[in-house]
Amino acid sequence: MIKLSKRLQQIADLVSAGARVADIGSDHALLPVYLLQSGKCPSAIAGELNTGPFQAAKRQVAEAGLTKRIEVRQGDGLAVLAPGQADTVTIAGMGGSLMADILEAGRAAGKLEGVRELVLQPNVGEEIVRKWLVQHRFVLQTEEILEEDGRIYEVLHALHEPHSPASVTNEAVFDSSILAELPEMKEEEKREWLFRMGPYLLRRPTEVLHSKWKLERTKLEWICKQVGQSDTPEARGKEAQLRGEIKGIEEVLSCLRTAKPSSN
Ligand code: SAM
Repeated sequence: MIKLSKRLQQIADLVSAGARVADIGSDHALLPVYLLQSGKCPSAIAGELNTGPFQAAKRQVAEAGLTKRIEVRQGDGLAVLAPGQADTVTIAGMGGSLMADILEAGRAAGKLEGVRELVLQPNVGEEIVRKWLVQHRFVLQTEEILEEDGRIYEVLHALHEPHSPASVTNEAVFDSSILAELPEMKEEEKREWLFRMGPYLLRRPTEVLHSKWKLERTKLEWICKQVGQSDTPEARGKEAQLRGEIKGIEEVLSCLRTAKPSSN
C-alpha cells in the first residue's frame, strides 16, 4: 500500500468510509489510490487539469492495478464530474481562492448535487474557503492544523447541511463568543478573525496554530517596515491597515493563551 505524507494522510482520515470520492487536482492520484488500497472507499474519480499531472495520475493508478475502480479524467475542476457521481469531493494543495472558484463553478453547473462531504486543504486563503462553505450550506465539522517539512497546513472537513448532525450548525460554529475576552473588538471583526484563523482551531489552540500566526505577524511587521520607508498617503494608509492586522493577531493570540497549547 502506498504511504501518504502526513498532510495527505490527514485528508484521507477525514473522508467518510464507503464514500465514492472525487479528488480534484489529483497530481499522481496518491489520495484516491490510498483510499482504494486501504479499503476505505469503493471507487474514485481523479480529476486533473494539466496534462503532465494527468498522465502521472494515470500511471500511478495503472501501477496500482486500480484502473477499474479509479477513473482518471482530464478537465477543469468539477467539470470532470456528472451530477450524482461522487459523495465526497477532496481538493488539496492549491490556494483558497482557486479552490473557491472551482467549488463555485461546479456548484453553478450542478456538479455538487449529491455531494455530501468536502475535505479541503487550501495552501493559503483559508478564510475564502470557510466563507464559501458558509454561503453554500456546507457545515464545518472540524479543522486540523499540522506541520510537515517546515510548512503548516490546514485541513477543513464540511458536510452538506442535510447530512450534518442537527447539533452542528455554522451559526454555532462561527459564534464569536469564543473571543469574548476582547470586549473592545467589534463583533464583525471577531467574525472575520474566526474565518481567518478557523473556529475549531481557535477553540483547540495548538502550538502549530500559535507558530503559524506568530510567523504571519513577523511577515506583516516586515512588510510594515518596508512600507514605512515611503512617505506617500497610500503608504501611510497601508501601514495603518497592516498595524491593525498585527494588533488583531496579537489580541486573538493573547486571548487564546488561557488554553494550554498542545502539540500536533
Ligand atoms: N492534490 C494533490 C496534493 O495535494 O498533493 C496535488 C496538489 S498540486 C500542488 C495541485 C494540482 O492541481 C496540480 O496538479 C494542478 O495541475 C491541479 N489543478 C490546478 N488547477 C486545477 C483545476 N482548475 N482543475 C483541476 N486541477 C487543477
